[in-house]
Amino acid sequence: VIGNLFELEKLAVLGHGNGGTVYKVRHKGTSSIYALKVLRFHDHAAAGFRQQAAREAEIVKRVDSPFIVRCHGVFDNGRLTAGDDVITGGSDGSGGGSNLSFVMEYMEGGSLQDLLRARQRLPEKEISGVARRVLRGLRYLHGMKIVHGDIKPSNLLVNGGGEVKIADFGVSHVVECQGGGKGNAWDSSRDTFMGTCAYMSPERFDPERWDGGGGWEFAGDVWSLGVVVLECSLGRFPLIGPGQRPDWATLMCVMCFGERVEMPETASPEFRSFVGRCLEKDWRKRATVDELLEHPFLN
Ligand code: ADP
Ligand code: MG
Repeated sequence: VIGNLFELEKLAVLGHGNGGTVYKVRHKGTSSIYALKVLRFHDHAAAGFRQQAAREAEIVKRVDSPFIVRCHGVFDNGRLTAGDDVITGGSDGSGGGSNLSFVMEYMEGGSLQDLLRARQRLPEKEISGVARRVLRGLRYLHGMKIVHGDIKPSNLLVNGGGEVKIADFGVSHVVECQGGGKGNAWDSSRDTFMGTCAYMSPERFDPERWDGGGGWEFAGDVWSLGVVVLECSLGRFPLIGPGQRPDWATLMCVMCFGERVEMPETASPEFRSFVGRCLEKDWRKRATVDELLEHPFLN
């Protein structure tokens, strides 16, 4: 176990996102390889940004599942020397924190987004395997009242054995309201973190549909999974056609007024049904994670 960020040597950059930078690192003592995600805070960083980072840290420390990228440690106030090959520093004792670092299991196969870039589309058998693992991960999270909130190809990572796991809890939160009151789909901290809205469910954009209990929030993860599996089969983002303008307005039109989404001609009836159950516009009618785990497409 890593006691100090001094023990890690930076090898390469694995990814950039809204949240920060992810490095491939080597533990000097054991030569084990890890991924290190560093969220940097500027002096003027919005309070919401820090708050959500703290939320991400709390969640990754709590989750422990074979379907979720493992986090081995979170370093508060660790300091990364820019332009250097070595990560230095432990706590700077300031309490405020200039960055927050997550030491994670290294996912050698990259993201599902990388996989799709390389292979365009996946056969249904593989998609079924991806869906099953994501659903098991979601069952675990939802059981802990955690909404992932950002299921998309770049947040689904593949390990050396080809196993897919859920990553990036950068917009996740624990649903606390139980009946009564509306959820807060757009609290400012999460708004700051929105990289893309493309995988978000229609109800996320419609305050009228939010209600107490947070059921709609869990249903949002199911919608996103539906978009992801269809993308794997179609080989492109499925909600906006090749001839359509890839912008916010088009996406809204498709989500709110669009008919059935386009399916590959070769899609099996089981696949069509599975996607249909995920992309049900009314979240109350949408399949739940437990229902989908029983779906013939997975079995
Ligand atoms: P962000 O909040 O910036 O989106 P992510 O946690 O999604 O951060 O990481 C960004 C990218 O870095 C991912 O899409 C992936 O390509 C890469 N990455 C993240 N974590 C790992 C990991 N554990 N192993 C390998 N690559 C990773
Ligand atoms: Mg991400």
